[in-house]
Amino acid sequence: MPGIGRRSAERLAFHLLKADEPKAMALARAIADVKRAVKHCSVCSNLTDADPCPICEDSGRDRSRVLVVEQPKDLIALEQTGMYRGLYHVLMGRLSPLDGIGPGELTVAELMARLDTPAKNPGAVRIEEVILGLNPTLEGDGTGLYLAEEVRKRGVRVSRLARGLPTGAQLEYVSKAVLADAIEGRREMQ
Ligand SMILES: [Zn+2]
Repeated sequence: MPGIGRRSAERLAFHLLKADEPKAMALARAIADVKRAVKHCSVCSNLTDADPCPICEDSGRDRSRVLVVEQPKDLIALEQTGMYRGLYHVLMGRLSPLDGIGPGELTVAELMARLDTPAKNPGAVRIEEVILGLNPTLEGDGTGLYLAEEVRKRGVRVSRLARGLPTGAQLEYVSKAVLADAIEGRREMQ
């Protein structure tokens, strides 16, 4: 398990061995339920137990704006700022040619389909702005440049989160205030 070292794993194992059976079974069921019930939204790839996800379904949101992030946890961090009322698109990673990760391994085609065909965007609303919310790393920047070109080809405005974000930072660990500033101060990409 990520983030669990040998000592923690031992403690968890002994805790489970000591726990009474109903408790242990409840945990086993919860794990099975997560695998069964949680899937990716067919529109934005966010994790959800309903498809489309509640964000895509919310007609009170501005459906002409799409904020592109690498992972669902980035979406959660941005959503917690309460500063953004548009939609999202989760790429499920970033371009990394050395690891063999190209556009086909990400949800790039799905994003372009939303841009090309408004019927594929919630409420059949035409997308007018794509905001790039990728991590400020080498690969995140490369992914951003690639996407900016693809989006601009389609005559859609592209902006990216402001650079209050320290280089190398991970969106999920940046404070709410810095993220909120980054959304507010986003800049159009030329
Ligand atoms: Zn969605």
